Amino acid sequence: MTEQDLIARIGALFQEAGAFVGPLDDDAAILPPVPAGAVRVLSTDAVVEGVDFRRDLYPFSVAGGRALRQALSDLAAMGAVPVGFVWSLQVPKSWERADVEAFCRGAAVVAAEHGVALAGGDVGKTSGPFAASMTVWGDVFGAPLSRRGAQPGDSVWVSRPVGGSACGLRLLLRETPGADFVHWRGGLGVSEAAAVRAHLEPVPALALGQQLVGVATAALDVSDGLLLDLDRLALASGVSVVLDQLEAAVDEEAGATLADALGGGEDFALAFTLPAGVSPFTDPDAAPGAGRPRRLGRVEAPASGGRLWQEHNDGQRTALLPLGHDHFAP
Ligand SMILES: [Mg+2]
Repeated sequence: MTEQDLIARIGALFQEAGAFVGPLDDDAAILPPVPAGAVRVLSTDAVVEGVDFRRDLYPFSVAGGRALRQALSDLAAMGAVPVGFVWSLQVPKSWERADVEAFCRGAAVVAAEHGVALAGGDVGKTSGPFAASMTVWGDVFGAPLSRRGAQPGDSVWVSRPVGGSACGLRLLLRETPGADFVHWRGGLGVSEAAAVRAHLEPVPALALGQQLVGVATAALDVSDGLLLDLDRLALASGVSVVLDQLEAAVDEEAGATLADALGGGEDFALAFTLPAGVSPFTDPDAAPGAGRPRRLGRVEAPASGGRLWQEHNDGQRTALLPLGHDHFAP
């Protein structure tokens, strides 16, 4: 297999899926013009085998789809309509051509689902693990959502219950289905299946993000843990967040615990703030029955002693640690 063959094959996979703007054989991709009144936003994200996914847990096709889903979630957090992406694939010598194709096929299916087209890329060999770096872009019709606008008096929301992803990962790590994945998955009970789905097929909240443009005062996606991400929002906005309904965040259907919901991460829901008196939207992308955003608390002026607080039923407050996953924490 030559590099040209592989590039042609990747192009064909995306063409079959209906998520291709070619040609892939020019030296650079040509972007469509930004529509009138829109702002183009761009985000880059990488996944590495052994760090972000493992072959003994699930197939490469699932890993490819999941990688694009998580990249698209950053566009959802800005309120963008996704348009296109380019990627750079570093392929280890030990990978078969079928492995690369499976990864790309998984991404192609997700690309088609969300109307985002592969506009170009790069493939290379590596002596390290497989790595895929993706740069996605989209258009925001209005002012892009930001982490910085939360105001005292705003309400705090999560677009759908969270924690299912951590629960699903725990199950995958315990049972390492690997090559038996499809059969293993078929035998799961309802709540286990929901947890595995939350981990492997998180739905980027693109439609909700678009609806929040011009409405939400601040937003971000819940990628590293609900409390850690809310802490980032509070820091960026210079406010404190008081949570009086923490339990509302828990994805009970997937069997998540409160700890999973608060610090598990990789949920790819949106956390956002709304001005007083504004009611939330239903998340059109969430699973049936789970689509209603959950109110978790409110925004207050900065307070000494922390940015994140839990308010108990008796009105007492305790400071919350920003639980979550920091890739560079010691
Ligand atoms: Mg993000």
